[in-house]
Amino acid sequence: MIDNYNRQINYLRVSVTDKCNLRCRYCMPEEGVPHREHKDMMTVDETFMAIKAAAELGIKKIRITGGEPLVKRGIINLCREVAEIPGIEEVCMTTNGILLPQMAEDLKAAGVDRLNISLDTLDPEKFHYITRVGQLQDVLDGMKAAEEAGFENTKINCVLMGGFNDDEIEDFVNLTREKPIEVRFIELMPIGGGIGFDKQQFVSCEEVLKRVPELEPMNQEDGVAKLYKIPGAPGRVGLIRPISCEFCEGCNKIRLTADGKIKPCLHSDLEIPLKGLMQEEMTEALRKSILDKPERREELDADNPSRAGRDMNQIGG
Ligand code: SAM
Ligand code: SF4
Repeated sequence: MIDNYNRQINYLRVSVTDKCNLRCRYCMPEEGVPHREHKDMMTVDETFMAIKAAAELGIKKIRITGGEPLVKRGIINLCREVAEIPGIEEVCMTTNGILLPQMAEDLKAAGVDRLNISLDTLDPEKFHYITRVGQLQDVLDGMKAAEEAGFENTKINCVLMGGFNDDEIEDFVNLTREKPIEVRFIELMPIGGGIGFDKQQFVSCEEVLKRVPELEPMNQEDGVAKLYKIPGAPGRVGLIRPISCEFCEGCNKIRLTADGKIKPCLHSDLEIPLKGLMQEEMTEALRKSILDKPERREELDADNPSRAGRDMNQIGG
């Protein structure tokens, strides 16, 4: 469906839970999510219905996210059912990878097309620090499991944080010399836990190009990522600049939160409720959400935090 600013909206990001088995400092509070009544959260059946309604309006790509989507009970069945909805061409998932050793094969069999795995450091101690509770080896095992299950074109999401992982930029880029993966550097956003970060920690993606001048731009753009390559390497590097660039003009997505609200723009507090509606009513609410999608986000930098009004684990990235 085309919105009021002539953008083709064909991508829905679905946060299936706000719960997570990690506690990344830039994302969610240490104590985890506030308790919510079960009745206030979308059931798997309601989420499926919402995606079906979205498909009727021309949504073609679904990204399952969270919180951590793999901790959601019934996630494999949901993926299988979503992959079969007429009109849905691509089902992707963003995960921290911790549970992939147990679940990668089932996800593949359920029809999930591609995975984005979040990984901000290759150092076990730094990993434990930034996630507050996690073990790096679990994610590395998860990446291996994804490859063995047959997932291709896996993307690694790395949030750039000055003084934390900017010294690992070369190491991350080097991963693309070995395997046909895409390492995506993402600028830290002042949203959720990211709001408390020091100004100096907001590092622009330009830093990647300064550190690795060998990177050559590719002609392709992949939605929000500008793509680069080390000549001759099998993989590629994506730069996602939510702070230093504004990509609202080409934004093709809307988001569904785990408590059943459509967010037409990540950084706006505008939310349209779907929970409790029948499928036709959901279609109408989605239509309205697309038409109400703001033209652009407001100013966003360390001094002007996001107006999203939620932590990232509640929105899904
Ligand atoms: N738990 C899954 C994961 O970590 O991949 C999916 C949900 S997580 C909210 C989705 C993405 O949002 C992750 O890649 C994470 O690094 C990113 N993210 C969370 N908070 C962020 C922030 N303040 N700035 C930039 N990216 C953020
Ligand atoms: Fe969990 Fe993902 Fe947020 Fe980390 S970024 S706390 S893994 S939801």
